[in-house]
Amino acid sequence: MRGLAGIWRRSIQARVVTSTILLSALVISLTGWALLRDVASGLAESRRTAAISEARSGFEAAQARLDAAVETEPGTQSQSLTQMVDSLTSARGARRTYELVLQGPLATAGGQVPVRSSAAILPDALPRDLANTVKSKAGTYWRYSKLGLLGGKDREASVVVGSQLRAPGTGDTYALFYLFSMADQQSTLDLVRRALLLGGLAMVLMVGGVAWLVSRQVLDPIRMARRIAERYASGNLEQRMHVSGEDDIARLSTSFNQMAASLQSQIRRLENLSRLQQRFVSDVSHELRTPLTTVQMASEVLYDSRKRFDPQTARSAELLKGELDRFESLLSDLLDLSRFDAGAAKLALDTIDLTQVARDASKDPTIKRKGIKVKVIGADEPAVVEADIRRIDRIVRNLMTNAAKYSGSDRLEIEIAQNDDCVSLAVRDFGVGLSGDETNRVFDRFWRADPARTQGGTGLGLPISREDAQLHGGSLVAWGEPGEGSEFILTIPKPDGSAATPALTSVYA
Ligand code: ADP
Repeated sequence: MRGLAGIWRRSIQARVVTSTILLSALVISLTGWALLRDVASGLAESRRTAAISEARSGFEAAQARLDAAVETEPGTQSQSLTQMVDSLTSARGARRTYELVLQGPLATAGGQVPVRSSAAILPDALPRDLANTVKSKAGTYWRYSKLGLLGGKDREASVVVGSQLRAPGTGDTYALFYLFSMADQQSTLDLVRRALLLGGLAMVLMVGGVAWLVSRQVLDPIRMARRIAERYASGNLEQRMHVSGEDDIARLSTSFNQMAASLQSQIRRLENLSRLQQRFVSDVSHELRTPLTTVQMASEVLYDSRKRFDPQTARSAELLKGELDRFESLLSDLLDLSRFDAGAAKLALDTIDLTQVARDASKDPTIKRKGIKVKVIGADEPAVVEADIRRIDRIVRNLMTNAAKYSGSDRLEIEIAQNDDCVSLAVRDFGVGLSGDETNRVFDRFWRADPARTQGGTGLGLPISREDAQLHGGSLVAWGEPGEGSEFILTIPKPDGSAATPALTSVYA
């Protein structure tokens, strides 16, 4: 059932074919039904007209016989009436097309009315209302009915025509009924019905087939366009659609190709621009390094001799050294980033135990100096990965110093967990926290929550940490709750594993 629903949702062709079949089946059934109704009423009408005129001549013949008869003896009268029925019946020829029923004399008040009939018909084959009308009024009346013979299998459709007869000699009245079979008309109708059913079914199947063929003609090029668009989206910018003819599909292909070409040239242009920018940042950083080293050396000399200066000059030497250190770390961050951007960053892989990294980081003197307590959780068993120790250490220390600098929390937790695929290391603080939007923005270059409050940071620490994690095939994600604290989870895959499902989920998630 779900498979069918899936096909219905995904395939335009299935929807077109199914709805065409359903609609054409509806139209064909309605037409067939109207046609069958017309044929049935036409057949019944012609049978009725023929039946009435045949019955009329029968009534006239019977009336003539009654007019000619003079006997009043009940015995002979009854006998001659039976003979009359027989002779009228024999007029139908060898094929049985009607039966006759004669009732009367009707005047035998309260007593049983004698009945003579050409065959043993079932009592309800004569419609009661028709019998009553004929018995009470002069004239010819008709009704459709179901003719059934005693011992016969099926009841067949019939038209019943009745009329009153009067015997002038005795003054008795009789009711004579013709029951015409409509079996021939019924079988013609059955034939037409069967033909319509089979024809309709064949037509619906044909229409379904045509819908399938036509929809394929339209959908095949669209499917091809989809495949080419998918390849284009996955980075194969050379992909173009084949254009043939001048129809709508050809025009679509031409527009698609134009769009693809324009996107490709834009992408190339932006790539070139971005490469130029990367080169610029990298070159500038490199070029600034040499003079910076000289200036730093000079500032070291000044700094070391600051005790001999007057207080104002000594303070200036301290400021100069501090700012130059900051400048140097900014330059090295920029160089790192430009190496990531150029794809030139390399890993020096080693087998390292992340629990050891966590324990070392927890003893960081700058953290200790601030009086922050660090708790390490889950470091009982080794969590070994293949990684670049320098980069992993840099990530963890950056997370710790950030927590110490920005969160205002007086305790930190480092938690380690692993699964078959990866090892996760979380650094959690209990300080100002991060909002949902900030947890994403912290990884933007140069982003700082509150630049005015920022203590010497450049906003490049977390972007570099994330690049480092991704260089290992891992991930770095941030979680937080304003006022509650924040948590950064670093996940490094084990050899042959993946970081798709981190071994830790944040308490703030
Ligand atoms: P920087 O190199 O300047 O420290 P980062 O990229 O490391 O920059 O951090 C960017 C900003 O993210 C910081 O300026 C700070 O506002 C915010 N931030 C980072 N870590 C935390 C934390 N643990 N709690 C609250 N804010 C944080």
